[in-house]
Amino acid sequence: MAQILEIAQLGNPVLRRCAQAIVNFNDPQVQSLIDDLILTAAQTQGVGIAAPQVSVSGRGRVCDSTYRLFIVASRPNLRYPNAPVMEPTAMINPRIINCCGEPVKGWEGCLSVPGIRGLVPRYPTIQVEYTSRAGNLHQVELTDFVARIFQHELDHLDGKVFLDRVESTQDLMSESEYQKQIIANL
Ligand code: ZN
Repeated sequence: MAQILEIAQLGNPVLRRCAQAIVNFNDPQVQSLIDDLILTAAQTQGVGIAAPQVSVSGRGRVCDSTYRLFIVASRPNLRYPNAPVMEPTAMINPRIINCCGEPVKGWEGCLSVPGIRGLVPRYPTIQVEYTSRAGNLHQVELTDFVARIFQHELDHLDGKVFLDRVESTQDLMSESEYQKQIIANL
């Protein structure tokens, strides 16, 4: 049975570790972690979640390292009302093959950085590769919001959070101001 996992908050060292590639996709620990991550993202209104974010709960952890695995689960919710709908997808050992266009700034938040939003530059189109939970290798092109989620989650696997990519503190906003100024005007 899937369970909701505790999410590491900014300042927790697990968010700064580089995650390790998954070798055995069929490992029951990996498969149950995927179920837990999908449930946790759904319950917390997340559109994505990465394994290092739940390492504090004892899941997602291999010795002192974490898995290169995240969930992309875009759908409209209170935090992202205009998000496109897609089936929650587990992406194992994900990587960017190619980036297209100039980076575009867009608002991001993070379950590990509650209460803060930031304008983050990301590539609008990316070609990516990942292995599915069934062990199949996929190469797909992602655009706009889903491309943004992928780049945000990939950063988590390399020990980065979105605050590291914000160009100016003027590009930061509290969640309550964001709700008032941005969401109300969508
Ligand atoms: Zn995040």
